[in-house]
Amino acid sequence: MTIFQRLFGRRADARLAVPEPVLPVRIAWGYLISITSIHLLSLLAFNPWYFSWTGVVVGFVGVLTYGLFGITLGYHRLLTHQGLVVPKWLERIFATLGVLCLEDTPARWVAIHRMHHKHSDERDDPHTPLVNFWWSHIGWLLIEHREHSTIFFYEKYARDILRDPYYLWLERKLAWFWVYAAHVVAYYLVGFAAGYVMTRDVMGAVQFGSSIVVWGVFVRTIIVWNGSWSVNSLTHVFGYRNYDTKDKSRNYWPVAIWAHGEGWHNNHHADQRSAAHGHKWWEFDATYAVIRILVRLGLAKDVVLPRAWTKADGAKAEAVVGATSSATKTVIDDDLPQGDSSPAKAA
Ligand SMILES: [Zn+2]
Ligand SMILES: [Zn+2]
Repeated sequence: MTIFQRLFGRRADARLAVPEPVLPVRIAWGYLISITSIHLLSLLAFNPWYFSWTGVVVGFVGVLTYGLFGITLGYHRLLTHQGLVVPKWLERIFATLGVLCLEDTPARWVAIHRMHHKHSDERDDPHTPLVNFWWSHIGWLLIEHREHSTIFFYEKYARDILRDPYYLWLERKLAWFWVYAAHVVAYYLVGFAAGYVMTRDVMGAVQFGSSIVVWGVFVRTIIVWNGSWSVNSLTHVFGYRNYDTKDKSRNYWPVAIWAHGEGWHNNHHADQRSAAHGHKWWEFDATYAVIRILVRLGLAKDVVLPRAWTKADGAKAEAVVGATSSATKTVIDDDLPQGDSSPAKAA
């Protein structure tokens, strides 16, 4: 048994084998190298030379900006589940913020996530903890899944995404990587310039610029990564269930805080298109709070609400300006991927 099978393979107490297309095990070198390098680079945060309070603040604000607008709102609720409609220019900005989280391109992220919903906690689920916990958290990223590189996979799960020329462009010639690299350089240059203005010293500028990159990019990237990965791992293992779904999804508050509301994962599996993942009053969902603000600003409409709300309290649905009851939009709710027939896209 190789070290990778030991770490990520089937354990004696596991109930599922890894998905068929990952066998025989082959390392996904691109993921292994990038995930290892960013984790190693973020360790520079422990060296005081790379510290600045500005860097810490930039990193913290970045977790909210990139993690929430890019991943939970952009990639997940908007692109994958079409739980709301925003202007195309804004959708592309959110998707770009998602690219800057280095969590795959919009099409690949959406396709893998739709596959997860279609096969949750079955063998074809790309990242179920029923294989083992570490497989669901990070292992599945480090081992090549043959199917994820096929045209058939994108055709089946992300055709609607790739119809957008910008999202298609991101797939070509590693464009997504250069976009990420360019933002690292931009962070450094802005930090360098600000550092020079403050210290009038080149080394002072280099030090300040480096602190902005280490905290504002590398530390932020691994915080957002582990938040997203925890949705795949922790919220299929820990927490309580409001709904008796056929998968193992659960509502787990630490992940709800870390990943801006995504920790209410059992609610989400029960009602996938709903843009609100917190269904009970205590289930605070930061992403949905932002969606409500976007609606008030006139930047979002056709927000799909939980069926539980609209059934229990018709008046509450009316309270959210621009909201649409998911009850009227449930035709494709449990049948991802969504193709042309999506009411949100047709609107
Ligand atoms: Zn899930
Ligand atoms: Zn989802």
